[in-house]
Amino acid sequence: MTFKRFAEYLAKIEAESGRLEIIRMLSELFSELEPEELPKAVLLLTGRVAPEFLGLEFGVAEKEAAKALALAVGADEAEVWRRVRELGDVGHAAQELLPDQEGGLPLLEVFEELLALAKDAGPGSQLRKRERLSRLLKQASPLEAVYILRIVTGRLRLGVGEATILDALAQAVLGDRAKRPMLERAYNLTSDLAYVAELALKGEEALQNVRVQVGKPIRMMLAERLPNAEAIMKKLGRHIAEYKYDGERIQVHFDGEQFWVYSRRIENITHQYPDLLKAFRAHLKKPYILEAEAVVYDPDTGELLPFQFVLNRKVKHLSRELIEKYPVKAFVFELLYLDGEALIDLPLVERRERLEAFVPKTDRFEPSERRWIESAEELEAFFDEALEVGDEGLMCKRPDGNYEAGKRGFKWVKFKRAAGGRLADTLDLVVVGAWWGRGRRSGTYGSLLVASYNPEEDRFETVTKVGSGFTDEDLQKILPARLDPLRREGPAPRVWAFLEPDVWFEPGLVIEVEAQEITLSPNHTCAYGKVKEGRGLALRFPRFLRYRDDKSPEEATTSDEVVELYRLQWK
Ligand code: AMP
Repeated sequence: MTFKRFAEYLAKIEAESGRLEIIRMLSELFSELEPEELPKAVLLLTGRVAPEFLGLEFGVAEKEAAKALALAVGADEAEVWRRVRELGDVGHAAQELLPDQEGGLPLLEVFEELLALAKDAGPGSQLRKRERLSRLLKQASPLEAVYILRIVTGRLRLGVGEATILDALAQAVLGDRAKRPMLERAYNLTSDLAYVAELALKGEEALQNVRVQVGKPIRMMLAERLPNAEAIMKKLGRHIAEYKYDGERIQVHFDGEQFWVYSRRIENITHQYPDLLKAFRAHLKKPYILEAEAVVYDPDTGELLPFQFVLNRKVKHLSRELIEKYPVKAFVFELLYLDGEALIDLPLVERRERLEAFVPKTDRFEPSERRWIESAEELEAFFDEALEVGDEGLMCKRPDGNYEAGKRGFKWVKFKRAAGGRLADTLDLVVVGAWWGRGRRSGTYGSLLVASYNPEEDRFETVTKVGSGFTDEDLQKILPARLDPLRREGPAPRVWAFLEPDVWFEPGLVIEVEAQEITLSPNHTCAYGKVKEGRGLALRFPRFLRYRDDKSPEEATTSDEVVELYRLQWK
């Protein structure tokens, strides 16, 4: 396929908002591609040339892209930049400035060029990237240029999530959308859509035989929630409860030499924990994949400090001072692979036995604290103990449960302190819009329109307007810095809203919100019609708590969870 044909598909998909129609277009595109083109096209749809966990970025700012465009058309840089600013996007500027040429380079060739561009680093790379991009633009039709530029500047926003790509792959390659679970499993074990596409082309057997691999992140298993000890006992019976530590979840891979550390969002954060990895290297020699909660402790008292403290390590160049100021300890709660053997399908008790035999207690890491629980009284006593030592609560786990990669279910149940108000838990919501402030807040955002995620429909559904809980610094600096780059005309394709905020955003920023109660509302689309016809669900008295940069928009609280929280209010 030519890149031109691919770009035509992208334009059609971008203009469409119906999910079924998008799946149909994508599967038509997939069927038209040659086998060697398919994995690459899948990557390009996500705006990348390598899976996200490899951390390969283009490193081309919009201004640099504008310079490449100026070079390609032989125009003045300042003039081109002015046009970019006026039109709001370097893609639009290219469409206007490039001559109406045919284009038509092969998709694979464009992919290879983009890959080379992303890989180029070090001294002089900026100039080489600019020249490479300008050569590519010289051979591109205006529409191709739009998408090339959006991809390299990280602005390809088609509104197509992973779930939608998997649906379309199931349809196009396996002949049936109902076969998506098979693809989903392979994706959950490898976090690599291009690899899943390759396996799908080989057939169902290859998909079923997919294995975890050291270095490739496993999508993390997530917990459900229940309101109290009785409900948990009823659901789980005799079970294993562990302290729920309040830090950053990390998945650590070690192949005998090299380490990879992945966040909950499957970002490579290996550079964030050099001290911890040194301790792991000293004690654990065999290849493994483990999961732990990394918690900052007070170097003077040894006391564990809350989640916000690990964020201090989220900087580009982690200095020795920062490492010493914010030392971390890891509480290991999963062993997923050990010395050639995948353990994810073993029941928890067996994984736990292997974990405790393998992971010793040291001053920088130890197995998570756990206890067998027989009754609600025991569970409550253990819960109080966890709160006393500064943890968030408990994680209650089914002893016979396997590790369900990428799934949220009742094999793990969290038991958390209610954060004030009457709701059993806080919610992690995606910012999709905002209203301008008035009075003291004029010139800043006054309140944010936030949404839950509906994975079945791959859609964000609004659930409330949040205006309280923000500091002046949030309003004046942090929110504009984070939200302005996400601004767009009209609602994003995956956002479903009845309200009309002053400004719309691409779903990108996740915030944690607490609220007093959940009510039925005709103004919000969350779980619309699920509890009552013509009504969605809305939070009352919501309050901003903190930014959840560890979560991607698709990891926000789901609309079904909001329904559950709504029902829990009367239990
Ligand atoms: P939540 O973020 O509220 O959905 O709670 C789930 C998170 O709790 C996990 O993603 C982990 O980061 C964290 N966690 C803390 N301690 C444990 C533990 N012992 N087992 C599993 N997860 C834990």
